Amino acid sequence: MIIGVPKEIKNNENRVGMTPGGAKAYIRRGHKVIVETHAGEGSGFRDEEYEAVGCEIYSDVKQLFADAEMIIKVKEPLPPEYELFKEGQILYTYLHLAPAAELTKALLKAKIKGIAFETVQLDNGALPLLAPMSEVAGRMSVQIGATLLQKLNGGLGILLGGVPGTAPAEVVIIGGGNVGTNAAKMAVGLGARVTILDTNAARMAYLDDVFNGRVTTLASNEHNLEEAVEKADLLIGAVLIPGKAAPKLVSEDMVKKMKDGAVIVDVAIDQGGSIATIDRVTTHDNPSYIKYGVVHYSVANMPGAVPRTSTIALEAATLPYGLMLADKGLEQAVEENKALMKGLNVYLGNIVYQGVADSLGMPY
Ligand code: NAD
Repeated sequence: MIIGVPKEIKNNENRVGMTPGGAKAYIRRGHKVIVETHAGEGSGFRDEEYEAVGCEIYSDVKQLFADAEMIIKVKEPLPPEYELFKEGQILYTYLHLAPAAELTKALLKAKIKGIAFETVQLDNGALPLLAPMSEVAGRMSVQIGATLLQKLNGGLGILLGGVPGTAPAEVVIIGGGNVGTNAAKMAVGLGARVTILDTNAARMAYLDDVFNGRVTTLASNEHNLEEAVEKADLLIGAVLIPGKAAPKLVSEDMVKKMKDGAVIVDVAIDQGGSIATIDRVTTHDNPSYIKYGVVHYSVANMPGAVPRTSTIALEAATLPYGLMLADKGLEQAVEENKALMKGLNVYLGNIVYQGVADSLGMPY
């Protein structure tokens, strides 16, 4: 199969759909990989590295789309890319079609076979192609929180772990899923005192087990949230109710009672956020603002700040499915792999994912 890797065109998107290492895996199995000039540059992969493993570099993205049977990228296509689609082409990327009527129509019109990373789902409900970005964002949330706690950034002026003779910081994490667990790992590692609130008892039992007493788990209810938020030096929002907007769990009053210089990192902002005082999505250029004396951070594409780690982590998850698609063709691959079948959102002019059809009010 001929596989095309275009350069991402979304503002500040520096990830790329395939690394030279990934390309080597496809080429070894007899596929041809064509890569747009400078596609990997933002993640630190030079054109020569792709060439060295046998890729062909294309300076003309139109030609790349025209020649490729499968396009592998990261972000959903943007309008300038709509006209490049070719009938019957496989598109393997994050799509997020539920709120995107225009993109969906463009994919249907072009009769694309579109697999969305975010809906590939295992039998146990896990989303293996979404998880790596949650891992990145969870780990980053503590790194960012630690920086914002510095005085010059408006923070309390404390170290997460303190030093001998001083108390460590209190880190409170709401939601103990992928993001929350990775945040806890970092915070515990830095010596902070960590509390995780979740509504899922089985998840809390798991966290209690794996952290072996180094985190406190609390049932997420209004009373416990009020107490935990008030004492937090760093508050991390990491809840998710799949397919729905994040619940506003932290009220304005709760934020007003926080210490001056405490920090909130709301990772769940991409689902609308879980903190009442977060009223805007911020960007990497200007990521935080202060309200009621509390530093607020609400960047919706946190992994974009560490594109090299994010690209490599994402490819580790996407490559096995990508190879299946290339080796077997889409039809056989989705027939043999149920998780991949769940990733199929559009197919030759039809919406084939119920949630997308329902959200858009379009036929399934
Ligand atoms: P997840 O499903 O693994 O975990 C969510 C957790 O929230 C679950 O353990 C669930 O039980 C818990 N939860 C649900 N309702 C709760 C409540 N009322 N109180 C406390 N906990 C509750 O999800 P995840 O992968 O950890 O993702 C968390 C959020 O982070 C999502 O919105 C995701 O889209 C977002 N995210 C954002 C970025 C970013 O750049 N900002 C990057 C990756 C992920």
